[in-house]
Amino acid sequence: MLCSKTGVDLCLDCLKEAPGAERESAKWIFPLYDYRHPTIKKSLWLLKYKGKKRLANIFAEIIYDKILEELSELSILENFVKPILIPIPLSPKRYRERGYNQAELICKELIKIDNARNKEINFSLENNILIKIKETEHQARIKNRNVRLKNLIGSFAVKNSELIKKRNIILIDDITTTGATLNEARKILKQAGARKVIAFTVAH
Ligand SMILES: [Zn+2]
Repeated sequence: MLCSKTGVDLCLDCLKEAPGAERESAKWIFPLYDYRHPTIKKSLWLLKYKGKKRLANIFAEIIYDKILEELSELSILENFVKPILIPIPLSPKRYRERGYNQAELICKELIKIDNARNKEINFSLENNILIKIKETEHQARIKNRNVRLKNLIGSFAVKNSELIKKRNIILIDDITTTGATLNEARKILKQAGARKVIAFTVAH
């Protein structure tokens, strides 16, 4: 149990006490928390491997506010409007094993929050555009950076690319480490005609 409130794994108050991500990441990537903090590490693990799907809602609450904050500027300066939410996909094999994609769960919660707030952001979810076509070794298990990058090349593909032509994209993932996965996804989305691509993650 992470939270002092009985019967709860994690609440918004716990999250608000966790330290923000401070390490350097690319300008277009917005991570919320420092992965090394025990509460963050444990709760992401519970969401990813233990089926604690309720946590997706708690993370989404925080990510939603962060997106809103960043978009207040981006929408004006860069005409970043009506974005499409795209979760970083799992390979079909891993999806079958786990039964769900944690990034997709967070996206679905973001849409619910947006609907409850009268579409303040006004985004839509597309979970059938970016697909993972190559089973890759777990990035975290590969120590060498170059090998990590090579591991990812050709791992994603885009389906139904007409849906993202000239559109703004928000990628969602639970964790970014080197940014390599997000970079590869962004590259292939831009090749398929996406306008601007930014990313939000729970942790870095
Ligand atoms: Zn709590």
